[in-house]
Formats: sequence, structure tokens, C-alpha cells
Amino acid sequence: MNEYKLFTVGPAQMYKRTLSVRNRVVPYFRTKEFSDLMLENEQFMKCIMDANEDSRMITLTASGSGAMEATVINCFSKDDRLLIVSGGTFGERFEKICTIHEIPFETIKLGPDEALTEMHLKPFEGNFFSGMLTQMHETYTGQLYDINMLHKFCNRNGMLLVVDIISSFLCDPFSMKQMGVDAAIVSSQKGLCLAPGLSFVMLSNRMIRRVEENDVKSLYFDFKEYLINSVRGQTPFTPAVGICMELNDMLKYINEQGVNERLSEVRDRCNYFRGLIADLPVIVPDFPLSNAITPVRFRKNIATEFFNYLKDYRHIMVNPVGGPLGNYSIRVAHIGDLNFYDYDILVKEMKAFFEM
Ligand SMILES: *Cc1c(COP(=O)(O)O)cnc(C)c1O
Repeated sequence: MNEYKLFTVGPAQMYKRTLSVRNRVVPYFRTKEFSDLMLENEQFMKCIMDANEDSRMITLTASGSGAMEATVINCFSKDDRLLIVSGGTFGERFEKICTIHEIPFETIKLGPDEALTEMHLKPFEGNFFSGMLTQMHETYTGQLYDINMLHKFCNRNGMLLVVDIISSFLCDPFSMKQMGVDAAIVSSQKGLCLAPGLSFVMLSNRMIRRVEENDVKSLYFDFKEYLINSVRGQTPFTPAVGICMELNDMLKYINEQGVNERLSEVRDRCNYFRGLIADLPVIVPDFPLSNAITPVRFRKNIATEFFNYLKDYRHIMVNPVGGPLGNYSIRVAHIGDLNFYDYDILVKEMKAFFEM
């Protein structure tokens, strides 16, 4: 396979330092040294997420969807009733998970151009839901939801708040404490820019208590086992050891750099790209956007053609879009080891393509 420059949201363009960690022999992991590394990872993650000290992190060897499913079945049961913000394919994934596991739910359905507002919450006020499932950034459309607004709604209605921050983590400001989040789901291949395969669920103290009382019908995904093992920095099964090491290196780097510095790097690349495309014949949706990606919509159905042109002739990979938006849009990511010059090249290619 060719080597590509990745403007994709995950896997993202990996940092050279991560590549050199990947190059080392994967060590045996039932050791004090590896336990210490895992405990350090949890501590760094708590710090970056601004989580309470009594929160706990579950490390799962699974992609983000595995962590979404595991979170839902460990935090809720058939006796619950959930409200799902469903504004794209990732919101729909929560619906599918609840359907499969027979957990009752209702949805707030958003169209591809519809911003989530207070108005969407009104009909569900005082409706006895036990929890809300939402993305922070619905990667399918690019919309960034107002988690503070959802938190206030959950607070006044006595609901737990589960947020999939997979495509927002390390791209947009996040505070587990201030946003009152009870479970935050993260995955290795997005903002962290590591290899895919590892996911993390940060649980608040009240969610941990719920998990401990819940009878989960799963061997691999039973959080109770992870909670017991993680006290000593271990997991019940063999984790993706290599990615745990990549994570440790990346978290040390972010810790040295400072979270705000990392966030502003992503934001600067994002603003730079949006500035460059301002006078191109493309549309950027006007609902609130994450800094992780820019959803670019064309006026004609040329997205697939453009994607293939970049991939085959320029060895550049942008994010295609599935479903109804597919042939009219691409998404350009701002995470990863990219600089302004990389965006100059991409935009030059966009211009050349439009003139073809
Ligand atoms: C990428 C992503 C996921 C996880 O997808 P996987 O392919 O299972 O890793 C979940 N939610 C959102 C919002 C995402 O962007």
C-alpha cells in the first residue's frame, strides 16, 4: 500500500514519536512495570478530562463502537428508559445498541442541517428518563453539541449523562466535572492519534456504583472485572499492549506541552483551513462545528470522484462520507501530525480539481 498523507479523523496522521514507540518489542504485561504505566495513563487521562479524583477509567481493547456498546450494557438495563440524541450515524449507533439489548429509549432526531437547541429538549422535560446518550461531536455531520445545555437538562430531570467524546477529545474543550458527565467514551485512533484498537471509558463515582450493581450478561465487556483489575493497573484480559505504550508516550507529550496548547494547535489548523476554503465553491454547514474536522459540502455530486482523485493521484486521504450526504461531501480533519503547509497543498488540489 502507498503511504498517504492523512487528513482523516481516525486513524489520523500519526506523530513520528508514536511510530518509534510502535517499533519496539511489545513487552509481557503482567508485571509491576506495566501496571505502573497503566496507572499513570489513568492519572493523565483524568487530568486531561478534568475528571474528579474518584472517577475510574476502564481500558478496553476494542474500537470505539465496542466501548459504546459496553458502556450502555454496563450502565443501564431493561429497567431503564433512555433519551438518545440522534443526529447522524453515530447517534443511530446508540439506538441500535439499545434495540439489540432491549433497553427502552426515545430519540431526539436531527436532520443533517439541524442544530440541536433547547427547543428539542422541551417535549422530554419531566418525562422520567434514567439517562441520556449523546455524542459531543456527531462526526457524520460535524455538529458539535452543547454539552452544558444537555447537562442542565439531565440535572433538572435527575438523569445520568453518557457522552461519546470520541471525535471531540483533544479537539474541543472538555471538562467531565463542569459538564456533569457520568461516562465519557474515548478511542485511541482519533484525537490521541494512536493506532486503532484501544478505547477508554471514564466513569463518575455515581456511575461506578450503578455499574457495580448491574448484572451484565457479557464475559469480555463486564466492567466490574475491569474495575477490580484496574485498581492495580491491570485489565482482566490481554490489552492491546503496544497501544497502551503509545498512549503513555502521547500522554507524557501532552502533559509537557499542556492540554490547552494541544487544543490550540488543532484549533489553529482548523481555522487556517476554513480561512483557505472561504472563497471556494463549497458550503460549510452553519451549525456549531467541532475543531476536529471541517465538513465540506460541494454544490455538485463530485465527492467520490474528488476523494479518488486525491487518493490515487496525490496520495492524500480525506474522510469520505457515507449515506445520503455521501456524494456531496467530504470531511477534512485537523488532528494529527499536520501543519499549515499540508493544508496549502490540499487546498491547491481542491482548486485544481474544481477547474478541471
Ligand atoms: C469514530 C467514532 C466512533 C467509533 O468508531 P469505531 O470505528 O468503532 O472506532 C464512535 N463515535 C464517534 C462520534 C466517532 O467519531
